[in-house]
Amino acid sequence: MKRDFSKAGMGTKSLWAGEDGLAVKGATQVPIVQSIAFTYDDVDDWQEVALGRREGHIYSRNSNPTFAALEEKVRILEGAEAATCFASGMGAISNTIFGLVRPGERIVTVKDTYGGTNQLFREFLPKVNIGVSLCDTSDGDQIEKEILKGCRMVYLETPTNPTLKVIDIERMAEAGHRVGAVVVTDNTFATPVNQRPLQLGSDIVLHSASKFLGGHGDVLGGVVCGPKELTRQIFHYREITGSALDPFAAYLLLRGLKTLQIRVERQNASAMKIASHLEEQPAVANVYYPGLESHPQHEIAKRQMPGGYGGVMSFALKGDFATVKSFLAGLKFAHRAANLGAVETTVGSPATTSHVEVSASDRAAMGIPDALVRYSTGIEDVSDLIADLDQALASLV
Ligand code: PLP
Repeated sequence: MKRDFSKAGMGTKSLWAGEDGLAVKGATQVPIVQSIAFTYDDVDDWQEVALGRREGHIYSRNSNPTFAALEEKVRILEGAEAATCFASGMGAISNTIFGLVRPGERIVTVKDTYGGTNQLFREFLPKVNIGVSLCDTSDGDQIEKEILKGCRMVYLETPTNPTLKVIDIERMAEAGHRVGAVVVTDNTFATPVNQRPLQLGSDIVLHSASKFLGGHGDVLGGVVCGPKELTRQIFHYREITGSALDPFAAYLLLRGLKTLQIRVERQNASAMKIASHLEEQPAVANVYYPGLESHPQHEIAKRQMPGGYGGVMSFALKGDFATVKSFLAGLKFAHRAANLGAVETTVGSPATTSHVEVSASDRAAMGIPDALVRYSTGIEDVSDLIADLDQALASLV
């Protein structure tokens, strides 16, 4: 049965999209097709599929029924023409850049992208003569000015990791299109439930599916969505360089995605309550959460995140890294781990997670205090999480 999703809500799409025409007739769930290659009795048929004249699968580095279902589900959730998936979020990011940008061209981006992305910009792109301009994330005028000088790609991530800065996607997409650039947005923190970059003018939206899309802290993956031709170029880079998603990983992501909306809605609501509560606590110096009126880009967030402000926040404790260590040790309902977006609350310090390879003085220059805690709200009862945070804060004094 072919379903029409044009009027369906996010919850319905999460459950049903991509699941039409299952490989095993009668199965209610997408099967894990753990096969490298697909066999053809008729060589002419095989050739038709190989030449792209007929739909089908040849070899699982290129396409596979399980990960094709995942691509279709995320494509529909993001409202894109096409989607292609990867073995990790970094696979999605690096393939997007190397698939679309050539030596001698320039990317305009910001200083606060995820640590791995930042390293790609600083360490690997210069090696192939791709220029990168890293702008001050909070300075919209500077980003726009850099874009208008001309570039091949505008690369955005919003909200950012770990200080939850917000970039105006619509404004930067408009500037990017004026100079003929491709605009890419990492939507990992927001998810399509909260923010729809393609509707705001971004050409490409990508995810570390390892975070909220999967949602259970048990599978790595990445997805890129965009117009057919750009997505084809990124797919082509992936099929040749090989960072394809494993079918079992695709199955776990499909399963996680079914509950995307209810998980994210609960995480949004709990994070908002927790962030407001933390703002009142004397042991907390600063709370970074786009939903707070005190957030410097709250007005932009209000406009471009209609679904909610996400499950991740960060806050600076009054004290130093030793204070953070003892606070983290005191939490009972949080994994101290380098992850976010899972059903269980996860907590960490940028000094041990996203910015582990950045020196303390460079972190300070980036506006990341040593006493910063990153908190990814799970789906536990929010009253338990607040009580847990309160007792850990109380133990500091
Ligand atoms: N983008 C963002 C915003 C992230 O937070 C991360 C990882 O934490 C990534 C990309 C990279 O994703 P992965 O770990 O799946 O490669």
